[in-house]
Amino acid sequence: MNQPTLQVTGLQTHFFTGNGAVKSVDGVTFSLLEGETLGIVGESGSGKSVTSLSIIGLIESPGRIVGGEVRFLGRDLLQLKESEMRKIRGKEISMIFQEPLTALNPVFRIGHQIQEVLMNHNQLHKADAERQTLELLKKVKISRPESAYDSYPHELSGGMRQRAMIAMAIACKPKILIADEPTTALDVSIQAQILKIMKEIIRDEGSSILLITHDLGVIAEMADRVAVMYAGQIVEQCDVYTLFKAPKHPYTQGLLKSTPKLHNNEETLDSIEGSVPHPLNMPVGCRFHPRCSYATDKCNQNEPQLRELESGHQVRCLLYENGFQ
Ligand code: SF4
Repeated sequence: MNQPTLQVTGLQTHFFTGNGAVKSVDGVTFSLLEGETLGIVGESGSGKSVTSLSIIGLIESPGRIVGGEVRFLGRDLLQLKESEMRKIRGKEISMIFQEPLTALNPVFRIGHQIQEVLMNHNQLHKADAERQTLELLKKVKISRPESAYDSYPHELSGGMRQRAMIAMAIACKPKILIADEPTTALDVSIQAQILKIMKEIIRDEGSSILLITHDLGVIAEMADRVAVMYAGQIVEQCDVYTLFKAPKHPYTQGLLKSTPKLHNNEETLDSIEGSVPHPLNMPVGCRFHPRCSYATDKCNQNEPQLRELESGHQVRCLLYENGFQ
């Protein structure tokens, strides 16, 4: 079995506001194996993006990581100084954002920005960095790569900007690529092209991918395993086949029901009633109980733990605990 490239254990990231601590990530544990794609799925406010920003060391005040470990190839990233983290970020772990302008600097040409990454991290000479930058732009199938090289970010379409950001993210052949809603802002045909490029990267470079999304269609297309997050915690974790065939947690079952099934021509969707709880006012017991149709009196008194039901399948729900019924 492959060794974990990344092992996250008991991660806790809180935001300290005037009204109290918002526990955006509250005890998250998962591993990412070499060459695999792990999807983290959940509604907005579930803590999935804060998890990814915590891993790469981009949590800003008033946020703070207050507990846990993030081991990358055995080293705990949470113990590194910012100067050490900067050497890892963009080289060994890089990130693709939903909005490319988060990563691309609007005042520099695309080619210059990618070239700088190569020169800084790989100590390449300018001519070599230029040549590799053009190769990268071709690899992500940017149209007219020479012209894109000389363009400013705002001169490219959304899809082309996304390709440019992917080119920059893979420039140093990172071991881990974190992709946070990489296709959400794009129209459907461009989404498919971007996912295809990401698959080629996995095949050619062997990178592990942490894929953050609310879109189960993207999960089905890309992921090997999936962690479902709700209110700052993982509520179910398993391989992608099991997730779609035999989901156990009532929240996962609800998410699957609310996903459009195009081949069935369904026009109406079941959606999960209610909304994600306010982070300053988490329900006592199971955090999902106000929205759960299986909830009993025990669910608002006892907090379920994440337990392994069978090898590789973990669920946080009292339904699966002995003596619940
Ligand atoms: Fe529903 Fe209870 Fe399971 Fe929570 S613990 S998901 S409320 S059945």
